[in-house]
Amino acid sequence: MFIEQPPWFYRVLFPGVIWRRPAAEKCVYLTFDDGPIPEVTPWVLDLLDQYGVKATFFCVGENVYKHPEIYQMVLDRGHRVGNHTYNHIQGIRFWTKNYVANTEKAAALIDSPLFRPPHGHMRRPQILRLRDKYKIIMWDVVTRDYSPHMTPNGVFNVVRKYTRNGSVIVFHDSLKAEQNMKEALPRSIEWLLQQGYEFRLFDFP
Ligand SMILES: [Zn+2]
Repeated sequence: MFIEQPPWFYRVLFPGVIWRRPAAEKCVYLTFDDGPIPEVTPWVLDLLDQYGVKATFFCVGENVYKHPEIYQMVLDRGHRVGNHTYNHIQGIRFWTKNYVANTEKAAALIDSPLFRPPHGHMRRPQILRLRDKYKIIMWDVVTRDYSPHMTPNGVFNVVRKYTRNGSVIVFHDSLKAEQNMKEALPRSIEWLLQQGYEFRLFDFP
């Protein structure tokens, strides 16, 4: 439970970041981390088109550098992008200066006011440095599609169990998540639509 839906006492350790959008309306914010890669991202884009759903892709700078045409596809299909650092680095392992520099290196390729820290970890000085320039987007539901201990059914059940109004939901367009995600994502989208959730993009400028 702690992982799938971070509790309030964890959330307050990260001042000024977004975990969930206001709960007044029946809507969700679908997000994908760690792409773009040719093996998985185009598959996700086709699926989202089938359902007419828009999402936000938190891209790793190095992947954008290697696969600019896939990155461009994400934008051309009407989705939003966010910065997920250049090398998918973990805040607790880096000095703030180097963490910010790695994020800025990614920002040269990814034009976005949105940032999501890899692994969901940042040290406080890193938050304070980055939050002036970025909206830092965490999540309300992480599907754990990347976990070798999860099954597609388990991933789908995380979505069913934890999604609520305003949830920011995380999937991954990565090789690690591919198998779970490809089966659980269509089922999740169908279930969310049946429940009456509207899919939204972040309205931060
Ligand atoms: Zn990541």
